[in-house]
Amino acid sequence: MAVRLGDSNIFLVGGPLAFPGATRPDVGWDCNQFLVKDPGSNTYDLVDAGHGLDFEAVLRQVATVTDPHRIRNLCVSHEHLDHVNGLPHWKRLGCKIHASAAAARKLHEGRDPTSEMFGARIAQVDADRILEDGDHVRLGDRDFEVILTPGHSPGSACYWDGSTGTLFCGDTLFAEGGIGRFDFPDSEHEGLVQSIRRLAQLPVRHLHCGHGPSVEGAAAARSVAASLRHAQSYA
Ligand SMILES: [Zn+2]
Repeated sequence: MAVRLGDSNIFLVGGPLAFPGATRPDVGWDCNQFLVKDPGSNTYDLVDAGHGLDFEAVLRQVATVTDPHRIRNLCVSHEHLDHVNGLPHWKRLGCKIHASAAAARKLHEGRDPTSEMFGARIAQVDADRILEDGDHVRLGDRDFEVILTPGHSPGSACYWDGSTGTLFCGDTLFAEGGIGRFDFPDSEHEGLVQSIRRLAQLPVRHLHCGHGPSVEGAAAARSVAASLRHAQSYA
């Protein structure tokens, strides 16, 4: 079953929280994939592609919500293998891939040093749209601003809807003050701090991370503030 988050039009598919009790080792390191519904047109958009190792299982979850062919756009949070290696599957279904320039460059080459450190190349796939900082993307029936957040990876991007306080933050930060790793071949601590500092200025009410649980209500902004303190503590 896809997991509906709160009373929103956002559904979690893929990743360990969407497969409770799953014992297959590949489930544990898959990322969260968020399906966002546009009730007017009954179409959907997706944040992140997952690692794609058991795409059929993810598709079965999606099918509890919608016909997968009704998914239009797929916004990539960053270029690590657990977020992008499902892209070729989604592209075959007709999704349009949106990614930052830095992520798109790596996807075009199918090379990412961090993913190769974990023993795998990333999918070779061309983005349909290159996202710049301040661009706007449609997710469901809402307008999201693109906030580029290099640090955890050069190509990291977050998606922010100020009208509802909804933030998709990829692996830049996590619930309860968690932060993205910055010890990878092309990650960078100072960039991560600056990126989280930007996010900490937003009135976040619904925080959806690349791994682990979402955070709702007043706890969401507190969680982002705790992530900033955490990131700064390594200075
Ligand atoms: Zn990552």
